[in-house]
Amino acid sequence: MSFTRQFVGRHNFVHTYYAIFAVFALKKLWKTYYYASAYDLSNFSILETSQKDCSYYDLLSAYCYSVNNLKIFIGGINETREDKLRIISDSDIVKKYLHVCVRTFPRNCNICFKCRRTILELDMINRLNEFRDVFDIDYYKKNKLFYLRHLVIKSENYFNKPIYEYFLNKEPELIAKVKQDIIKNKKYARASALPNIKSN
Ligand SMILES: [Zn+2]
Repeated sequence: MSFTRQFVGRHNFVHTYYAIFAVFALKKLWKTYYYASAYDLSNFSILETSQKDCSYYDLLSAYCYSVNNLKIFIGGINETREDKLRIISDSDIVKKYLHVCVRTFPRNCNICFKCRRTILELDMINRLNEFRDVFDIDYYKKNKLFYLRHLVIKSENYFNKPIYEYFLNKEPELIAKVKQDIIKNKKYARASALPNIKSN
């Protein structure tokens, strides 16, 4: 089931709510549920919640959602996203079923912001080929500049920044080329300029 289709709303503002909805829908299966944190603890905030990602206050939400026979905790609150990906990427189940996409289900679309970010992170930790069951890795390799363009354009984003810094160090010439391309033609990085991709 794709929650993004069933529960219309901007992903950043609602994802915790519909993820916890799924947990409660299968409540009899769990006594304790660990919901992965998006941000580390230092980012906790309940200010301007109508303008910000609901993950900023997951710690409070988890406390509110917990009931007598189901406790919800936020997991990995002291780990970076890269740390978390390294930990879960050792699992064969994750390699077969990892789903991060905000557009398609059950297969990841490869091109939404979460798919792009996750594929770049898998490249960063050198685990790309192990995730061929859930991402079109050949498409990524063939269209890497497209992924890097989006990364460069959003390089100040909290999640993108460490990925950008990694590629800036590892492939400085490629990043320089991407920046030149962006300056030459800003429109190229828009979604409408997507290279062709297999339908899911
Ligand atoms: Zn996607």
